[in-house]
Amino acid sequence: AFKAVVIEKTDAGQTVGICSFDEADLMDGDVTIRVSHSTLNYKDGLAITGKAPVVRRFPMIPGVDLVGTVEASSNPAFKPGDAVLLNGWGLGETHLGAYAEKVRVKGDWLIPLPQGLTPRQAMAIGTAGYTAMLCLMALERHGLRPERGPAIVTGAVGGVGSVAVALLAKAGWHVIASTGRPGEADYLKNLGAAEILDRSELTGPARPLAKERWAAGVDTVGSTTLANVLSMTKYGGAIAACGLAGGMDLPTTVAPFILRNVALLGVDSVMAPKALRLEAWNRIAHELDHDKLAAMTSTIPLDRVLEAGKDIVEGRIKGRVVVEIG
Ligand code: NAP
Repeated sequence: AFKAVVIEKTDAGQTVGICSFDEADLMDGDVTIRVSHSTLNYKDGLAITGKAPVVRRFPMIPGVDLVGTVEASSNPAFKPGDAVLLNGWGLGETHLGAYAEKVRVKGDWLIPLPQGLTPRQAMAIGTAGYTAMLCLMALERHGLRPERGPAIVTGAVGGVGSVAVALLAKAGWHVIASTGRPGEADYLKNLGAAEILDRSELTGPARPLAKERWAAGVDTVGSTTLANVLSMTKYGGAIAACGLAGGMDLPTTVAPFILRNVALLGVDSVMAPKALRLEAWNRIAHELDHDKLAAMTSTIPLDRVLEAGKDIVEGRIKGRVVVEIG
């Protein structure tokens, strides 16, 4: 048996606690891993609190990200002792997840721990940081470059937002960081933000078109925020949408798309193909400044992940949180 966070479904709703979990109850997979670190993403908060139905099997062990060491493998690509990284693929949603001392998964889901990153750094980046890179790559694939104008990042003090600010600034963008926490202006400027925008400017009902302010953007908030961001995007610009921290709706009009040639680029990390993951992680390992990563990261033990899960869905987490397990 090993220690794990376990979510159970009861008639009254769901319960969550830290328990002893029997290895025989792990799900099918060809690689067994001893987990050393995980992290806290918004989705983990949704799973822990039950605020949205992200868990689709009970009992569930939440946690969508892990780094660990292979303990046993019948997959030819992995052998005991290998350091591996897993992000998404249903971990913590449909497959028993990362907030546990052990996991058993499909080897196809794993990538080697990227060269140049420690296990702790890889989890400081986590799905949040890897998604921020997928957003930057989507904007670049659309042909956008810093010469075209500023880039906005919404939910900038959050996990995806903090990494997006650092990556876009490093790539040469003039970054406008939108936040509801103006007291964190120095934090955001230290990560590379050139300007801070109070998120209240983006939360009211969106006009079909408004003054053009940015050529690109990474949106982690959705809802009226994304609608306002689109209405203020310059002719020919694009916004990478990856989040719903402000809501799943999108009260926009077609005006930005048909009158300004604006593009809305959807970004998913969970089912992203392996080649894209490898490219994203390789770029992060080279392009994300390690001091900036350290400045946005805090660390908690597994025992504190339940309260931290509540904090993240309530918008109280700054940057990234590493969860120490092994
Ligand atoms: P996070 O750390 O909680 O960051 C979210 C940020 O959004 C908060 O820090 C806050 O930023 C802002 N925010 C929260 N509630 C808001 C509201 N009601 N209105 C406006 N802004 C609000 O979470 P995260 O882990 O970075 O994830 C961010 C989002 O991306 C989540 O929706 C998550 O599900 C999504 N995500 C998607 C993928 C994917 O594959 N598509 C991958 C990772 C994450 P300020 O305090 O700066 O205002």
